[in-house]
Amino acid sequence: MSKITNNIKTIPMLDLKAQHEPLNEEIKTAVRDILDSSRFILGPNVSSFEQEVAAYHSVTGAVGLGSGTDALYLSLRALDIKEGDEVITTPFTFFATAEAITYVGATPVFVDIDRQTLNIDPSKIEEKITPKTRAIIVVHLFGQPADMDEIMAIAGKHGLKVVEDSAQAFGAKYKGRAVGSIGDAGCFSFYPSKNLGAYGDGGMLITNNPEISGKVKLLRNHGTTGPYQHSFIGYNSRLDEIQAAILRIKLRHLDTYNRKRRDIAALYTSILGNAVQCPTEKQDRTHVYHQYTFMTSNKRAEVEKALRSNHISAVVYYPIPLHMQIAFKYLGYKAGDLPVSEAAAGEVLSIPIYPELDPEDARMIAGVILTALKN
Ligand SMILES: *Cc1c(COP(=O)(O)O)cnc(C)c1O
Repeated sequence: MSKITNNIKTIPMLDLKAQHEPLNEEIKTAVRDILDSSRFILGPNVSSFEQEVAAYHSVTGAVGLGSGTDALYLSLRALDIKEGDEVITTPFTFFATAEAITYVGATPVFVDIDRQTLNIDPSKIEEKITPKTRAIIVVHLFGQPADMDEIMAIAGKHGLKVVEDSAQAFGAKYKGRAVGSIGDAGCFSFYPSKNLGAYGDGGMLITNNPEISGKVKLLRNHGTTGPYQHSFIGYNSRLDEIQAAILRIKLRHLDTYNRKRRDIAALYTSILGNAVQCPTEKQDRTHVYHQYTFMTSNKRAEVEKALRSNHISAVVYYPIPLHMQIAFKYLGYKAGDLPVSEAAAGEVLSIPIYPELDPEDARMIAGVILTALKN
C-alpha cells in the first residue's frame, strides 16, 4: 500500500503496516495469551514454532535464537570452528555474515561473486582453500538460492562444513529443497524487514544433524545441562515467546507472501528485461525476492534521481563489499582483489518489493526507470 502525505504519494521499500493490518486481531489475541500466562522465555510457542519450521524445511532439528547473527555464530561454535581456522564466504552480503566468523576467532576468506546471481562464484572457491579452511558460509542473497550442488561437491571433496546464511531467503527452493536444509546448518533471521519478519529481533538454526541442534540448544542457554550445571561456556540467545507466537501466525502466510513477491518481480522483469540486468531465475530454483535488485552499468545515479523525484524509494544493497570495509582492513585486501563484487557494488539498485505492493504502482515504478534510462 502506498502512502499519501500532503497529497504526495510516496512508495516505501517495504510496508510492514499493510502486512500487519489483516493479522492484527489474531496477533493481539496471541500476545495477550502470553501476557496472561507470564511464560516469556522458552515456552510452548518457541517449541511449536521450532517444530513448524523444521517441518516446513523437512529437517529434524530447529532451534529458536535471539537473531540471525547468533544463528551464524552458534552454528560455527557447534561445528567447533575456532581461532586459526579459515571460513570462506562472499564479500557481497550483509556485514553480519562475516562478523560471525570473527566471533569464533576464525578468519573470513572472501571469494568473488557470480555477476548473474550476485552469489558466491563456485568456480573461484577452490583456489582459496588452504590447510586451514574449515567451512564455507553460503549466502542466498536477496532470496536467490546459491549454486548448492557445486558448493556441496567442493565441500565434500575438501572435507569442509557448509553453513547456509538463509536470512534473506526463507522459503526459497533449490531443486525442490528449501534453502537452509542442504548444508550442515541453515541460519535464518526474523529481523522485521525479512521475508518472515518478527516484531523485534529473532533467529533460527535448522539442521539434520542432532549433534549440532543439541549443542546449539545448550549454547543458547549458557551451556546449561541441568539446573545450575554448565558443561561449557555458552551464551544468552533465545527466541522469546511473544516473537515465536507472532512468527507462527505469519509462517502460515509466508508462501503467499513469497508468491506475491515473485509476481511483482515477474512484472518488473517483463518491463525492464531489455533495459537493465534483471535478477536471474536459474532453472530449478525459486527466488523469493527479499530484494528486487538490478544493474544498470553506468546509469544508476540517473535512475536513483528519477525515482527520488517521483517519491519512490530505492536503496543500494550493498555499496561497500565486505573486503573493502574498514572493520576488515586487517585482512589486507585491496581494491581490485574481488572485481566482480566491486563492480556490482557500483551498479546495483534495489527497488520496492513486498507482498502488498500494488501491481499498478510496480508498473509505474518500472516506467519511471525506463524513462530515466532513455534520457
Ligand atoms: C539480516 C541478515 C543477517 C543478520 O540477521 P540479524 O537477525 O539481523 O542478526 C545475516 N545475514 C544476512 C545475509 C542478513 O540479511
